[in-house]
Amino acid sequence: MKYKVYTDFGHGGYDPGACGHGYKEKDIVLSVGKLLNNMLHEDGRFEIKSSRVDDTFKTLEYRTNDANNWGANVFISIHCNSADDPKAIGVETYCYKLKYRELADCIQKSMLDNQVFNRNRGVKEGNFHVLRETSMSACLVELGFISNGNDIEILTKKQYQLARALYLGILKYFNLEEVVTPSDQLYIVSVGAFKDINNAKATMKKCETIGLKPYIHIHKEDYNGLPKTIWRIKRTIWFRQNNIWKC
Ligand SMILES: [Zn+2]
Repeated sequence: MKYKVYTDFGHGGYDPGACGHGYKEKDIVLSVGKLLNNMLHEDGRFEIKSSRVDDTFKTLEYRTNDANNWGANVFISIHCNSADDPKAIGVETYCYKLKYRELADCIQKSMLDNQVFNRNRGVKEGNFHVLRETSMSACLVELGFISNGNDIEILTKKQYQLARALYLGILKYFNLEEVVTPSDQLYIVSVGAFKDINNAKATMKKCETIGLKPYIHIHKEDYNGLPKTIWRIKRTIWFRQNNIWKC
């Protein structure tokens, strides 16, 4: 059975949320949220539903009813902060009551642990509709201040890291380890192996004529009696010299 994660992206449509430095909260949270959804989807252990997947307005009632009717296990609402004081900075996560803080703690800690480099404003109680009217564990994370010059850099240039921190926080809540996904692997395309360097170069030429940019790996056939495959795995640093990669 998969864990059901409801991701709620604040504002949308005619409601831009907070605005600052030429950016709108509704766009930032949608963009970070979609990255988070992709990570959860690739993981394979989650079902995901979102309050919106484009720039449309959804009422607060719609968001909580949708999550409740779906039977979500967790509800994560993503927002950006804003303040009149341009110096206000940092990340904070809300729960309805501190006695229900476990999910908010996991998210807040992950935001700080995963090199998003943001100031800790802590986990707080918030009597927000999306926290009060949801029937599952719920938190609302304020990713940073759209009104602050440093935070806006994080909000716009570190969206992948923000999404990843949210993802890892969700794993922590469910006591799950991170799995190696196919996107962490490399797939190497080979077109041949030759004893004679001239044959290798001729094959390179053929590849180049159709617009490919090939390179040559040189593999030794013996290495202290170790099977060749082990030797290849052990040596992971490659040096590029004139299109010939030596290992
Ligand atoms: Zn908001």
